[in-house]
Amino acid sequence: MTQAPDWYQAGMPHIWLPYAQMQTTLPPLPVKATQGTRIQLADGRILIDGIASWWTACHGYNHPVLLQALTEQAKLMPHVMFGGLVHEPALRLARRLADLLPGDLSHVFFSDSGSVAVEVAMKMAVQYWLNRGERGRNHFLSFRFGYHGDTFATMAVCDPDEGMHKHFSDVLMPQTIADLPRGEEGEAVFAKLLEIEAGKLAGIIVEPLVQGAGGMVFHDPSTLQILRRLADQHGLLLIFDEIFTGFGRTGSMFACEAAAVVPDIITLSKALTGGTLPLAATVASTRIFEAFLSEKDIHALMHGPTFMANALACAVANASLDLFASELRLEQVARIALWLEQGLAPCRNLPGVCDVRVKGAIGVVELDWIADLKGLKQALLAQHVWIRPFGRIVYLTPALTIEEEDLAGLCRAIATVLKQRDWSQEF
Ligand SMILES: *Cc1c(COP(=O)(O)O)cnc(C)c1O
Repeated sequence: MTQAPDWYQAGMPHIWLPYAQMQTTLPPLPVKATQGTRIQLADGRILIDGIASWWTACHGYNHPVLLQALTEQAKLMPHVMFGGLVHEPALRLARRLADLLPGDLSHVFFSDSGSVAVEVAMKMAVQYWLNRGERGRNHFLSFRFGYHGDTFATMAVCDPDEGMHKHFSDVLMPQTIADLPRGEEGEAVFAKLLEIEAGKLAGIIVEPLVQGAGGMVFHDPSTLQILRRLADQHGLLLIFDEIFTGFGRTGSMFACEAAAVVPDIITLSKALTGGTLPLAATVASTRIFEAFLSEKDIHALMHGPTFMANALACAVANASLDLFASELRLEQVARIALWLEQGLAPCRNLPGVCDVRVKGAIGVVELDWIADLKGLKQALLAQHVWIRPFGRIVYLTPALTIEEEDLAGLCRAIATVLKQRDWSQEF
């Protein structure tokens, strides 16, 4: 790196980075600014962004409509506590989410991160049964390759490897982890499992259509229909974690629409504010909400993150929803899907590649193995793209506004790098 800035040298000894072995991790890149689908580094280099900042920046960076909403709200009121007080940005957003979501998912609890939104969903589900006087329904069923967050309750419903279940076995609540039911055979196996487990379960939690952080694993809408059918048979609550898939990523506004399945609780975050500020929502159906209504305080939902319903974040989220209405994002997603199919097709026959798949604005090249993840990251960077392979995959989740030329550049960079050597083999 050519002369890192002073703040970099001074601050690096004090920073603790995410998902990183601090002794051996590649040094992080100092960023100066963002614009559209580009990241500008402190040394002047410009990268095409293939990740949209962990899938959040759906309208590209620094969209003027979002920035304007942010500055206007900042002048009026950046934040006010949500206990005993409410404000227009939050109530407007709650009503709009209720309108957009299918069925009667219409009771919105705001929080400040995806993990917390999932914790709230789990708490709602457990308390739903307690409030109805049914004790013992306090476990969850979730799925291999699932990811629902990094806090302890959410780690316990992640894929056992992702959630490090073995490592934290003394702290994590043991939950039931199953294979996602695919086809009739899968349904039969899953039905048998539920016959044994259902009595202790509060609900089933799943990322609909795409399991993101667990490896961008896709499943058909029919799987979600199986889950709804069997959950109903056993009276279980169905929770869809749409923190990744929500807001157009898979082709429809919410992934559940593709299956015409309405969950009992849905969680949203990542692209909710168009990648500008942290905000999350747990949205419950009327049946769930009404189970908390009574004369007794003990039946109330006891949760309240300090920064819940932050006014800046809600104002930007409203502006983001405006953009979904005015800028035809879903049409852009359909185009991106075609471009990804074309752009990644040349990777299909490269050494070490075992699968290339696309759903909406998600493109995945899966390798048999990535023997040198660091080397692969550096090779991609040398192509002036920001792409973060993990596990066995190299993937793209660009801003939904990305132009054809930039997307082609991202795909070309992946193909070029995968041609350089067989990354599944030790060098
Ligand atoms: C990112 C993610 C989370 C966790 O969100 P954080 O804001 O990082 O806590 C939960 N579920 C899914 C499906 C996610 O993609």
